[in-house]
Amino acid sequence: MHTNMDYIRESASKRGEYYIHSQFDTIPILIKDPFMSDEVNMEEFIDEIETRIPRHLLQNIEIIYVGDFPDLDGRNAAYVDGAIYITNKEPTTHDILENVIHEIAHSIESTYGTQIYSDNKLQNEFLGKREKLKAILDAQGYEFPEEYYINTEYTRAFDEFLSDRVGYPTLLSLTMGLFASPYGATSLREYFANGFEKFYLGEPRLVKETSPVLYNTIARLYTESA
Ligand SMILES: [Zn+2]
Repeated sequence: MHTNMDYIRESASKRGEYYIHSQFDTIPILIKDPFMSDEVNMEEFIDEIETRIPRHLLQNIEIIYVGDFPDLDGRNAAYVDGAIYITNKEPTTHDILENVIHEIAHSIESTYGTQIYSDNKLQNEFLGKREKLKAILDAQGYEFPEEYYINTEYTRAFDEFLSDRVGYPTLLSLTMGLFASPYGATSLREYFANGFEKFYLGEPRLVKETSPVLYNTIARLYTESA
């Protein structure tokens, strides 16, 4: 079926613009620099976002930019002041979807901060996992000061310890069942965003089994109306 919406999208896409339509808003996607891969399908990406993500969770996204942004500093995506920036080096539609859903999670942390963080249950679940992580990594000879394990905030030192010294392939095999995916060990906010990403990308059971408090938090936000 060819709808008006398809027509609008097609004509817009020639100008390097696409739109995510939600009930109340339209979120433009501006392609500043084209994707380098031809495995990227923006129509498919938009359909996935429109069908998977409840509208009220898109309320803090005003625009999405695609490009070669030096400020990303090696990251795939970032959420800054109402905008999601994604690198044009994303290899596939699925990678874009993962990264954008991850940034949507960060975008709602301020609006739903009370529901997510205020009762400390999520923090306690996270710190319990960090404690287990420390025992696992210590036993493997990857020692790192405890002060980092008990700090819920992001630090570059701990991020680099996990990604460069231990490495994600090793971390993945050592922490099976502990985190929905090991990036969730980075900080409390990343724990939330990582679970949110898995929940909306078809792995809610994985989140429920590894992180029941996180699962309940995300499930509550799903039904919450803004
Ligand atoms: Zn993040």
